[in-house]
Amino acid sequence: MHCDECGTELYEAGEVVPAGDYTRVDDRSFRHVALIQRGPLPPSFDGHIALYRSAAAPCACEGRHTTTNAFASARAARKS
Ligand SMILES: [Zn+2]
Repeated sequence: MHCDECGTELYEAGEVVPAGDYTRVDDRSFRHVALIQRGPLPPSFDGHIALYRSAAAPCACEGRHTTTNAFASARAARKS
């Protein structure tokens, strides 16, 4: 899915992604996750579905990439 404000690609916890550095963006913790090989992004363990972006692609609306907003826009996109 993508942020509908800035177009940054967002990844859900559990989604299999290429090796690289990722930053959690849905809870403002900006937790850094480094994957040394292709694999799933780690779950949040706090009851939310964590959202990550590539650490190399910061964006202007950082901090508003909430799970709720992202899922709402993803649902809206699927309907259209
Ligand atoms: Zn954004």
